[in-house]
Amino acid sequence: MNPLDEYKKKRRFGSTPEPPPEAKPSASGRSFVVQKHCASHLHYDVRLESAGVLKSWAVPKGPSLNPAVKRLAMAVEDHPVDYSDFEGIIPEGEYGGGTVMVWDRGTYEVEGPDDPAAAIEKGELKFTLHGTKLAGSWVLVRTRNRQWLLIKHRDRYASDDDITVSQPTSVLTGRKLADIATDEGGEVEEASRCDQPSVSAPPGKRPTPTSRRKKPS
Ligand code: MN
Repeated sequence: MNPLDEYKKKRRFGSTPEPPPEAKPSASGRSFVVQKHCASHLHYDVRLESAGVLKSWAVPKGPSLNPAVKRLAMAVEDHPVDYSDFEGIIPEGEYGGGTVMVWDRGTYEVEGPDDPAAAIEKGELKFTLHGTKLAGSWVLVRTRNRQWLLIKHRDRYASDDDITVSQPTSVLTGRKLADIATDEGGEVEEASRCDQPSVSAPPGKRPTPTSRRKKPS
């Protein structure tokens, strides 16, 4: 099976401006992109290049620089490497319909043997990002099935800064989602809603899970 078969099956390339399902490596062979995607729900798509395609995870809350925060990352279908250039509108009614922003982009290195496919197969990929917004050491670890966690490792790039709030715009064009929707004929109101930072509790005021359940009496 071609790794981009699922990508191809989900899309109609006469209707969506997304790149065609063509597998080919980038110059570095280790590109990454994080796309902010205002679809039915706002999420961030984290994509790491491996064997000529972008291995992809949908991260509902986006990356966190705080090593104590584990972000849910759902594995989704491989995307073509050219997808890292895609910023624009997926028409309503098409798969993933909504506004897409290139939120961060760059290259990465695998920590350990340079074989991301093997690490992903094993369910634990440790990597170093060289992006504009994201840098340093990270891990993606599988918990079950398609469910993974994205976690920042402790290093000098770790921080309490909520980077999805402090750096909301496109690394390619400086635009917000609403600007992209306005420029390219998307749903501006919906994109504006996605631009609103979600209110998160300040560090130390997060609700802590109860460590012990009451014993049934
Ligand atoms: Mn998406």
